[in-house]
Formats: sequence, C-alpha cells, structure tokens
Amino acid sequence: MVRSLSMPKPKPIGALVASMASLALLAPAALGAAAPSPGGTSIGDPLFPTLGNTGYDAQHYDLDLAFGAAPTDPVTGNVTLLATATRSLSSFSLDYAGPVAGVVFVNGRPADYTLTGEKIVITPGRPLLKGLPFVVALKGFVSSPRAFNADDPTSVAFIAGPSGTAMLGQTAYAHHAWPSNDHPSDKASFSFQLSAPDGETAVANGLLAGKRSRGGRTTWSYVQRQPMATELTQVAVGDYDVIDRGRYRGVQIRDVTVRSATATLRPQLEVEKAQLDWLTDRLGPYPFDVYGSLVSDQNVGFALETQTLSYFSTNQFAATRPEGRWKPVMLHELAHQWLGNSVAPKEWADIWNSEGHATLYENLWAAENGYLPDSAGFDTFDELIRSIYADGDRARAELGPVGRPKSGSDADIFSSQSYDGGMLVLYALRQEMGTEAFERLERRWPTKYRGRSAGTREYIALASEVAGRDLRPFLESWLYGTATPPMPGHPDWTIEPVA
Ligand SMILES: [Zn+2]
Repeated sequence: MVRSLSMPKPKPIGALVASMASLALLAPAALGAAAPSPGGTSIGDPLFPTLGNTGYDAQHYDLDLAFGAAPTDPVTGNVTLLATATRSLSSFSLDYAGPVAGVVFVNGRPADYTLTGEKIVITPGRPLLKGLPFVVALKGFVSSPRAFNADDPTSVAFIAGPSGTAMLGQTAYAHHAWPSNDHPSDKASFSFQLSAPDGETAVANGLLAGKRSRGGRTTWSYVQRQPMATELTQVAVGDYDVIDRGRYRGVQIRDVTVRSATATLRPQLEVEKAQLDWLTDRLGPYPFDVYGSLVSDQNVGFALETQTLSYFSTNQFAATRPEGRWKPVMLHELAHQWLGNSVAPKEWADIWNSEGHATLYENLWAAENGYLPDSAGFDTFDELIRSIYADGDRARAELGPVGRPKSGSDADIFSSQSYDGGMLVLYALRQEMGTEAFERLERRWPTKYRGRSAGTREYIALASEVAGRDLRPFLESWLYGTATPPMPGHPDWTIEPVA
C-alpha cells in the first residue's frame, strides 16, 4: 500500500542517474580548467585524521537495504550518492569499513575500485569535472548487525538486540554499516528503502513515504529531506510498534517501541509534546518534519539523538527508575535536534557546543520540573553548576580543556568535559552577557545555521555580535585555558585545588 503524504515524493534515483550520466557525457572537457587529480582521503579533522574525503560535496544518499529474519542476519545493500565535484577528479574515496563492497558504478558506468583500510577509492572510466554533479552507486555491499559489547559499548554502529536492529553511528561508525563521506561537515538529504519479511516493522529518519508488499516481504520508504550528518542515520527493523500521535505544532509525532514494551511506553513517551513546547519557546521552531523516540531492547545504556528519531533502550524506562531519571534524558535528545543535528558540528572538537547545550537544557528543564534531585543529585541548578565549577581545574588537568578533547577516542570525545564542562562554559557566557542577551543568542544560533554545520568559531562570532562586544578572549579562556577562569557574578565561588 502507499500512504499519501503532504510532501512531494523524491525524484526516483534511477532518473537522476540517467540524467547525470548524460550530463557528464555532454560536458566539454575544457569545463574543468585544472587537470583531474585524486580526491583527498581526509576531510582534515585533527581528532579523526583518517575520516572523511575531499574533492566532492555529498548532496543526497539513497540507501536500499534488505534485512533477514533474525536481527543478526547479514544485511545486503545498495547505496547511491548524488554529489558535486568541487574539483576535477581522476579518482575519489568514500569511508567504508565493511567486508564486501559489491560493484561500483559512476554515472551509470562500471568503475574500478580498491578497498584499503576504511576507504573505498573509486576510479571512474572518465574524470569527473569540477562543478558538475555525479552519481556513484555501490551495489551489493554486506553489513552485519552485531550484539552490544559491554567491554566496548560505543563501537558497534549497526546493533542487534532480541527484538531487532538499530543504528548508533556517533561519532565515526556510520561507515562501519554502509559507505559514505562519514563526517558531519558534509551533510546531505537521505532516502531509504528498507526491505524486511512481512510482520516486521522498518523505520528510518524522516517521514514514511510509502510501503509495498510482494512475495512475503515489505519495502518501507522514508525521506529525510533536511540535510543530515551520516552519524545521525537511524535504521531500525524488527518487532516494533509505531505509535502515531498525529501532528503537534506542525510536527508529526511518531514513536517506535519494541512490541513487548508498547503498553508501558505509550503514556511515558507522551511528555515529548510538553518538551517540544518548552524547547520551541527557547530555540525557535522545531527544524524537521517529524519527531519521536525509538525504544529498543539492545540495552546499551545510553541514548542517541539520531535525527528525527532519538534512540533509547527499554531499561532506561524500567519501573524501578523514577521519571526524574529518564524524562530529562528525553529532553536532552530532543534539544539535540536543534543543537547538534540541524546545526551539526563542523569538526568533532565542537562537540562541547552540542553536548553542552543539550546538557544545559536538560538540567534547566529538570530543575523547573522538580526532577533535579533524581537526575543530578542537587536541589537547585546553581548548586549543580557550582559543584561542576569547583571541580573545573581537576577536569581540565585530567581530561583536557573543554574545547579541545585529548583524542578522538570515545572516552575523550564523550568525557564529562563535553557535557558538564560544555554546560559550565555556556553558564559562564550567560552570566557574562546577561540572561536576556544569552536567550537572544540561543534563538539566533539554530536559526542562522539551520541545516548547516557550524563550529566553535561561528558560535563565538555570533555571541560577540549579539553582545555587541568581542567575547573571543572570554570564551577562549573558558574553552582552551588550562585553569578555570573566575565565574562572572559569583566572586564567592571557589575551585578545588588539584591534588
Ligand atoms: Zn547528548
């Protein structure tokens, strides 16, 4: 069956391939002035020197995945990428860490490739010219969802649990599941065709665009039309229910829950609407077409802001846990949809900005709703911040400055400096600018950079513009200094000496 939608269907990717192929054939050789050369195999992120590729700009990914009956069955797939060459290319690369790459076509013609380390280097039959779009299709690659590994909890991107699969691609793991330019500075729109045995449910980022059944299998189509970082892709297939809550403030509200937990979760997740109200008041209109929670039973022990469909585990909602433990976490992941997703990091050292913001709003909301004692162990927001401030020098000595994680390891990227440290910097900025100016900055940031990637430098520039004075020295000492600066407005606050 096909569901009607209030949005246009995407162009069929086959038609795109045909039109791009003819475009490339017609292009005069003189159009690309510089001689074609190989694209770069690093996008230049100091924390992830091997990640990402240059020479092109990804515009749209179409992912076509076929799932087996069991969550750990290998998934076979095709990915078609529409990109624009940013210089004339004799070859170019994508990130991919899977075992089988299949066959590769560029502009509809077979292309040679080599699979080395975590790169596929593709050599098209004829060079790609600067400024022109091209289509690369990788057909027949294989991906294997794996069970959660408690010894290395964040390393499995494509995860399998008792009831189904899900994606956990942050930071640099999406290319373990399928080929892409796997860096948040190269966002693209996405479409998904997910084929699964009848009786299973398949969901992905964005809106459901159609569903058709044939021969015991059903193919579910989704469209994520606003740009998305590869790390935020979500694809979940298994024994899931879809809870359609209709439209609220112009946003489709859709939750996805493992069937065994739907009755319990249905009322619990409804808090999303009140949270959407609260965040919209502070950050402006929600940036996407749809939002909801995916609650699966891989029980990884963390949540992830996969775009339009945040990931949670059933154990986070256990009856033994007070609502002050999970409701603020839901607010955190929803806040990321503006801060971290719609405005994605330019490089991974910017993570303090997205995690600091999500942690700030999580705790402000918890404090307003009386959840802070359960969620953070403090009675008031200022007591929480004062405690993080007191620990500031120890955190800097042990984990590095807030704005400069020591490495790209999960331990350094997801350290408390990104969360509590980032929130502390934003609190200090609010104290320095005044609450009214800070709140204006917070509305302007996700509006100005909606759908784009923006980093620390852009945030400092916008803060300075809103404040009407140069805040760079202030913010740089908070972000990069080895000592915690004095907290504006709290001369009595002290920092514990480092042992
Ligand atoms: Zn977060």
